[in-house]
Amino acid sequence: MATPQLRNYIDGRWVEAASRETFEDLDPATGEVIATVARSSGPDVDRAVESARRALDAWRLYPAPKRGEILYRAGETMLRRKEELAREMTREMGKVIAEARGDVQEGIDMTYYIAGEGRRQFGDVVPAELPNKWAMSTRSPVGVVAAITPWNFPLAIPTWKIMPALILGNTVVFKPASYTPLLAVRLVEILEEAGLPKGVLNLVLGPGGDLGDHLVSHPGVDLISFTGSSDTGSHIGEIGGRLLKRVSCELGGKNAIVVLDDADVDLALDGIVWSAFGTSGQRCTAASRVIAHKGVAGDLIGKLVGRAKKLRLGSGLEPTTDVGPVVSSSQLERVHSYIPIAEKEGATVAVGGHIPREGALAKGFFHEPTVLVDVKPNMRVAQEEIFGPVTAVIEVSGIDEAIKVLNSTKYGLSCSIYTRNVNNAFRFMRDAETGIVYVNAGTIGAEIQLPFGGMKATGNGHREAGRAALEVYSEWKSIYVDYSGKLQRAQMDNGEGGKTAL
Ligand code: NDP
Repeated sequence: MATPQLRNYIDGRWVEAASRETFEDLDPATGEVIATVARSSGPDVDRAVESARRALDAWRLYPAPKRGEILYRAGETMLRRKEELAREMTREMGKVIAEARGDVQEGIDMTYYIAGEGRRQFGDVVPAELPNKWAMSTRSPVGVVAAITPWNFPLAIPTWKIMPALILGNTVVFKPASYTPLLAVRLVEILEEAGLPKGVLNLVLGPGGDLGDHLVSHPGVDLISFTGSSDTGSHIGEIGGRLLKRVSCELGGKNAIVVLDDADVDLALDGIVWSAFGTSGQRCTAASRVIAHKGVAGDLIGKLVGRAKKLRLGSGLEPTTDVGPVVSSSQLERVHSYIPIAEKEGATVAVGGHIPREGALAKGFFHEPTVLVDVKPNMRVAQEEIFGPVTAVIEVSGIDEAIKVLNSTKYGLSCSIYTRNVNNAFRFMRDAETGIVYVNAGTIGAEIQLPFGGMKATGNGHREAGRAALEVYSEWKSIYVDYSGKLQRAQMDNGEGGKTAL
């Protein structure tokens, strides 16, 4: 079968990159090429932004319930094609098939949820302080949105950005991660088939660096919605800040599971194994730290090592596989580089720590599920995002120390606590400096109807998903209508015994 050629989608047409250059999309389980991809550059970005700007007026005036109908149709298609999309996702970025189905389902859920906003988008109508005067607020689209996404949730994360942007009347230039162009193409095809007018959504494929800078600083882009690493996020935030663009960043995490001495240790173990090694540890919410009370640490570590040893590495398409490959050879080297870093700082590898160099696994980008012990809170493995199947166990002597250690990193995305003590659970919920908190569940598993995002260096104060998403993709407009037929001066003494406002 011929290798598919993935192209840009600009102004309703599938087109080559202006340079005609391409790059390869690889299966991380085998290293095989699964597609060739347009390598876009500045001129492609210019065309995509111009197309989005041209489409903006008609789209913002298109009735929002009708926009919602297009999104519903897209959701229906995703549902119908769920298995096919999941299999392509596993081939493209390696996560095991059951998790790939979950990723597609999250995209479907988000699409349906946001489609409903076509008939809501509530503003306020409030009493005015002067007679015969009307006061209300409505949402307006921001304009052209640059949606820049990572590879770890290749369908779900793009829907978190594109769907709310569209329902609010924005047009979009979508720049997906270079490791997952195939799923990006599929999402755009689905929205095209659902009836999205030309120019409303444009796709530009290619490497982040130059292309990304060009997109982010383009005068025709009003809002940048970015999910990815903190380094790239801070670079984008700097450019956007200088140009006074709207910028929403969802960035890295160093999430932790706290296990207190009254916890159900076996339940905690299930949560740790799933949160640390699911998606090969490449979730922004992955549990890369376990903060264990000294009273249970020995038991917990012993059982965790046993569970990690049993996890089967392999292609995500095999039903027997527990842990798939990491996304690329460079990511594999990066993850693995943390093993000597940990050992040099005094940590011990309790299990894993190797790259399989023989047999079928040697062809792909696999790393053994790894548990590090003797870890101190200030070590690099306890502070830096590793983004691979590696978790570090830190021992503490109680809830106070657990919360202190939890909050000791620069990130603040997700955390969890296992305890049967309701007082400790509530203290934790209050004092954890993270955007997401779980009690007696792992650090992963967010639902799309609540806000998603983090505190501190995990972002810049915005949230995705839930109703919070609407705040990112719209501007508030406050409207006053005076139907008194005379000049009424608000915020002044009106001379009629009325109040004096500020
Ligand atoms: P990167 O920051 O490397 O890349 C993210 C996206 O940005 C990619 O599309 C990339 O393109 C693009 N990009 C790179 N450089 C630039 C630039 N100068 N201007 C504009 N765009 C650019 O992150 P990863 O893809 O490696 O994703 C992993 C990271 O994402 C982790 O840190 C993880 O924690 C975080 N993440 C956060 C989530 C959250 O909600 N908080 C959710 C999921 C992931 P290209 O691929 O071509 O390099």
